[in-house]
Amino acid sequence: MTNIFMADLIDFEKEGGPLIEPIVGITCSHDRNRQPDQYQLAGAYCRAVQKVGGIPVLLPAIPRMERPLSSFCQGLLLSGGGDFDPGFFGEAPHSALGTVDYERDCWEINLIRKARREGLPILGICRGMQAINIALGGSLYQDLPSQYPESGKDGLVEHSQSIPGDQVTHRVKIAESSLLYKIVESTEIWTNSHHHQAVKGTAPGLEITAWSDDGVIEGIEGKDDRFLLGVQWHPERLSTPESHRLFAAFVRACRGKMD
Ligand code: MN
Repeated sequence: MTNIFMADLIDFEKEGGPLIEPIVGITCSHDRNRQPDQYQLAGAYCRAVQKVGGIPVLLPAIPRMERPLSSFCQGLLLSGGGDFDPGFFGEAPHSALGTVDYERDCWEINLIRKARREGLPILGICRGMQAINIALGGSLYQDLPSQYPESGKDGLVEHSQSIPGDQVTHRVKIAESSLLYKIVESTEIWTNSHHHQAVKGTAPGLEITAWSDDGVIEGIEGKDDRFLLGVQWHPERLSTPESHRLFAAFVRACRGKMD
């Protein structure tokens, strides 16, 4: 009986011979409260990359890195996580601000700028999308319920869903001219939602390409032809065709950086 690992190898070969897999660097969190401390990442990110033919490699925060990112990976995936330090967009902490990790913030901002300079594909998920916006000069709502009261009004859109994350809860509308539209092939999809922060001021060079019904920004992308995409939901936890296509498109772009 073939196990899942063997089945995946066979699938790759069916698609026209074995392909060398691109390496996707994925950021992760750091739990300093555990003894000993732990770097952590939900397994779903790694499985989503692996399923579409990429090799996931974790990128725990280090103080500096002179080495080009492209010398050891072909794409950057920014994972979800805690809140951003509002100092990065010139604000004092709001009372509803959650846990921040300044070292992770700095590391991700550096990685995004580096990947951008080197022309590597970038995919940001949830906090990762917010990281892209901050790295390129944008700002965030520190807490949607208190700073964007329209969200969640009359129970219209719940951005911090209580049902399991593999189920969709709210609708997202997608601009037809966008990269996201080309990937998911629809102007409307249903997504999960696990965030209390959101993009406020969009960074120069970025375009808003997806919204929920209350106007909260759910997707951003670069204005040029380099692959730069951020989504506010968690496609890695969904088994929808759109989620699969999102990772497939990203890893395909990473593969394009191999030669
Ligand atoms: Mn949402």
